[in-house]
Amino acid sequence: MKLSKLKLTTPYLDLDELFYDKVEPTPLEKPFLISASKDAARLLDVKGDIAHDEWLVDVVNGTRKLDGSTTFAMCYAGYQFGYFVPRLGDGRAINLGKVNGQNLQLKGSGLTEYSRQGDGRAVLRSSVREYLMSEAMHGLGIETSRALALIGSDTDVARQSWEKGAIVLRLSPTWIRFGTFEYFAASGEHQKLQQLADYVIDESFPELKDETDMYLKMFTQIVKNTASTIARWQSVGFNHGVMNTDNMSIDGRTIDYGPFAFLDDYQSNYVCNHTDHEGRYSFRNQPGIAKWNLEQLARALSPILSLDKATKVIEEFVNYYEDEYLDIMYDKMGLHIRIDTDLDLFVEMLEALEATPTDYTKFFRILSKYDGNRTDILELVVFKKPLQEWLDSYDERLKLETQSVDERNKMMLGVNPKFILKNHLLQEAIEKANIGDFSMIDDMLKVVLTPFDEHHKFNYLTASAPDNAKNIKLSCSS
Ligand code: AMP
Ligand code: MG
Repeated sequence: MKLSKLKLTTPYLDLDELFYDKVEPTPLEKPFLISASKDAARLLDVKGDIAHDEWLVDVVNGTRKLDGSTTFAMCYAGYQFGYFVPRLGDGRAINLGKVNGQNLQLKGSGLTEYSRQGDGRAVLRSSVREYLMSEAMHGLGIETSRALALIGSDTDVARQSWEKGAIVLRLSPTWIRFGTFEYFAASGEHQKLQQLADYVIDESFPELKDETDMYLKMFTQIVKNTASTIARWQSVGFNHGVMNTDNMSIDGRTIDYGPFAFLDDYQSNYVCNHTDHEGRYSFRNQPGIAKWNLEQLARALSPILSLDKATKVIEEFVNYYEDEYLDIMYDKMGLHIRIDTDLDLFVEMLEALEATPTDYTKFFRILSKYDGNRTDILELVVFKKPLQEWLDSYDERLKLETQSVDERNKMMLGVNPKFILKNHLLQEAIEKANIGDFSMIDDMLKVVLTPFDEHHKFNYLTASAPDNAKNIKLSCSS
């Protein structure tokens, strides 16, 4: 199917007008396609060569309307770095409508009712990052919004210096955030809160409709989904950077990619966001912050569910999180059976990685080919003793396993990615894109969608960061 054949609906506009602002996108000048994800296009049943669809650039730039589309921005509130802001909303995102269970949204498409002091724009730099990271997160098997296309333009946008404006066409089964509930809780509009909860159940949790205690069950599912996503982030070494409640999707998927980073060397207290002076959103704080955010959501929902019962559900967050995290880490370490001392082995591994220091992603990929010969693993590090000692314990532990080395290696290669989006390489891709060379974006898109495959041709995309670019902090400006 072609884009021209899509028929959108706008169920969100059936809600009261307080929920949104109908607004038209403001097009960019001289728009051009930078990249399109065939894989994401399939979600809309758009098959074939999406990059050559005659409508694509115009749809992303907002100069051509898809059938059935009415454009609008959504309101929401949010706790930003722990402080409540009662009115945020889509300040630079404009929704097109919904098809095939996916809500289409343009990011960077101009001013809305909720733009506050912003200009409604997104620059090429941050748009390349969001586009690739959405697809990479999906490639890693982690729930996320997707990115169908990225366009650049000739429009100047003022940041620290002049940059060019860009737009990403994003897709998600929901764009409702914890902060959407917080908006109506703060304004005391409890009837609207219930309307929103009913909408969320229809959109994201239809199996709960008309059940007894359905709002509490909805909340329980949000807690479980959030725990699962965070466990997966921690397992791949992903630091989101801005876990404000307005950036927390109501169905637990990852959204709103800003100053994110994957750990280069393993460093548990790493903070990727340059403006996060206190390290509130550090890598190791992510599970705790998710729980805090869920507590704020429970408070917002308290007019329509029992806060006591919701609090008990939140107490289970740690168990949901730890169960899932440990399951993944067992797989990453290639351990099939479980014994009491495994937790020690696991903690010692992270301590050894941190002490050494070691490229987190490469370590697991090389461990996935381990057959007792330590040469490749030890080549990763300068200071070898901590890893040597850990490998002594690991060798002992492996003797208890019943799997063959081949079986274990095969399983591990399927869970330990070869490719993640390293910031220093993303930076290189952005610099090339700024001068009209999109080849690195194409290469990156290819490998991140199937990051467990070898893709030998693209080995340059596994290069560790140079020492002066390791675990750097990123600016929030986007
Ligand atoms: P973020 O940090 O990107 O999640 O954005 C936080 C809030 O600021 C959201 O309400 C955004 O819509 C809004 N915002 C961020 N950048 C801009 C911009 N350039 N123009 C208008 N609103 C923006
Ligand atoms: Mg946001």
